[in-house]
Amino acid sequence: MRYTKNGEAMTPWSGEFTNRRQEAAFRRSVRDTTAGLLRAAMLTAALLFLVLGVADFPRLGPTDSFFQLLGLRLLAAAGCLLTWWAVRRNPDLTFRFAPLNPVIWLGCTVLILIVPLGPDTLSTHAPSAAVAVMALYLFVPNRVPWMVAASLYLTLGFLATTALWVSTPPSVVLVQSLVLGFANVVGFLSARRLARLQRRQYASLLDERAYCRRLQGEIRERARLEQRLRHMAGTDELTGLDNRRRFFERAEHALHRTQRHGSPMTLCMIDLDHFKTINDRYGHAVGDRVLVQVAGQCRRHIRDIDIIGRIGGEEFVIAFPDTDLGKALDINERLRRCIEATPTLELDVHEPLSVTIGIACIEPGETTLTPALHRADAALYRGKALGRNRVMVHGVEDEPRLVVVDG
Ligand code: GH3
Ligand code: MG
Ligand code: MG
Repeated sequence: MRYTKNGEAMTPWSGEFTNRRQEAAFRRSVRDTTAGLLRAAMLTAALLFLVLGVADFPRLGPTDSFFQLLGLRLLAAAGCLLTWWAVRRNPDLTFRFAPLNPVIWLGCTVLILIVPLGPDTLSTHAPSAAVAVMALYLFVPNRVPWMVAASLYLTLGFLATTALWVSTPPSVVLVQSLVLGFANVVGFLSARRLARLQRRQYASLLDERAYCRRLQGEIRERARLEQRLRHMAGTDELTGLDNRRRFFERAEHALHRTQRHGSPMTLCMIDLDHFKTINDRYGHAVGDRVLVQVAGQCRRHIRDIDIIGRIGGEEFVIAFPDTDLGKALDINERLRRCIEATPTLELDVHEPLSVTIGIACIEPGETTLTPALHRADAALYRGKALGRNRVMVHGVEDEPRLVVVDG
């Protein structure tokens, strides 16, 4: 028993996979190419039978033998053409016994009968038979056992007619037997080797495909993990908002864009008031839920193009591209009121929740967020000092002028 590289067993005689499903899959994979080869072989054989039929005329003339031979050759050529047509219509016939093998046997019979019909050219018959045997093994795609059967039929039939019908001397028959026997052995070994090689190649191809599929799966999994990691690296775990690093990346990107278009951009810092007290009274877990709730409220009050991040324990920052101080003030005031008005009882917090917000716009010529963030921070802490729960706008003058918007 021979094996392919991936352990598929092949029969010793036919060189086919022992696993029938594997063999069927192999045949399906080579069906069209093999059908093409078979059609070419059938056309060639038909042509040969016709040409040889015509070539008999100068030798035999319009005799009975010539017409009998011609009839036989036309019959064989017709069989070949019929097979060509059948395989062309249905390539699945390529590996079936019929119509190919009956036609091959018909062709072999014609070759055998040429001996008694043209005994004077016996010297050319033996080499022709050897060539035909080789062609049956190597030129006509067929299953190896059927190749062996047809070739042995041709060989034995030819030798029998040569010995019995034409009474050839035994020494000549012996030489012919040796030549044809040798052609059979070489043909069989070559055909079997070819069959094995094709199947090994197919098994390697399957191996490679499986490997590629595994590799593609791994690449997809890695890409998914990488995406997840990248997301995690830029996301605040508790609130799902951008963390400091991602916020700065995205907000600076937005800053450059707004500057290119000459539009304003405003930043705001939001800090929960007396958050430590909530933590102390209700516990850290409740404090976490409060943070998540406020983060959600912030998100609901901003547009898709605005960028929000959690940059400290209970501090959030929002960048408003294409937004001036007035508009930002509006949005933040609405946000502040919303937070103030939202009951926190479902979070088990029995006291009002509020935020203080500091706003500053990016000044012309500023290429980073830091100065504006500092100004927003200053406004925020001024708001804390003035009693919290308010929105403070940092002025643009040298002397910071803080505006308290009525809560
Ligand atoms: P202020 O009004 O002046 O801002 O007072 P505050 O209590 O909010 O400010 P402070 O800076 O004194 O306290 C912030 C608290 O936020 C302290 C810390 O325990 C809490 N904190 C920071 N990060 C987290 C967190 O992730 N979860 C919870 N539950 N608490 C946090
Ligand atoms: Mg606070
Ligand atoms: Mg704080």
